[in-house]
Amino acid sequence: MKIIMLGAPGAGKGTQAQLIADKYGIPHVSTGDIFRANIKNGTELGMEAKKYMDQGLLVPDELTVRILLDRVAKEDCKDGYVLDGFPRTIPQAEVLDQALTERGDRIDFAIDVDAPDENIVKRMSGRRACLACGATFHVEHIPPKQEGICDRCGQELVLRDDDKEETVQKRLDVYHEQTQPLLAYYEKKGVLRTVDGTKTMQEVFAAVTALLG
Ligand code: AMP
Repeated sequence: MKIIMLGAPGAGKGTQAQLIADKYGIPHVSTGDIFRANIKNGTELGMEAKKYMDQGLLVPDELTVRILLDRVAKEDCKDGYVLDGFPRTIPQAEVLDQALTERGDRIDFAIDVDAPDENIVKRMSGRRACLACGATFHVEHIPPKQEGICDRCGQELVLRDDDKEETVQKRLDVYHEQTQPLLAYYEKKGVLRTVDGTKTMQEVFAAVTALLG
């Protein structure tokens, strides 16, 4: 099963992607996580991506598409995957479609986790991330067992630079301008499904599993 998670940054698509990955036994592929891992390891790719990420801007398509196609070509992705944060532009979606079509394959579902901007700005300020393993928490909604510490790997949790309020607003503007057109793109392909992202994490996941079967 090949699934794309759509929705504004902070709508909860990363959390849902992880839940889907766990339930269906497919990899959770997040381009944001791949970039952050590269930043942490000080790679050239990471340094290039950071210039854009810190400003709330998108990393150029050329670079992003390359890392995504490399990732989904790996053995663990052969039976499916859930993409989180990719595609974010129409050209990215077209490159992915082309790569899949060449193999007689296609995306099964594009799930839009829908939430209004006000709701998102409020949520993002409470978000905490583990830079070591990519897990995300929320001080109110998904608190870690021990404050400030990752449940999964025991490292310290932080407020990511790109989750800070002024960056969040910029990311929402970028979302509306460059990513939202993907809803119509996948609608036209007949694979778009929408869930209400203002509900609790469990309610959203129940809606998602009802769609996926
Ligand atoms: P995320 O963790 O998905 O919210 O991504 C964090 C940041 O990484 C974004 O604000 C972008 O700067 C960059 N990024 C992640 N995925 C993409 C993508 N598909 N295209 C361009 N930039 C991306």
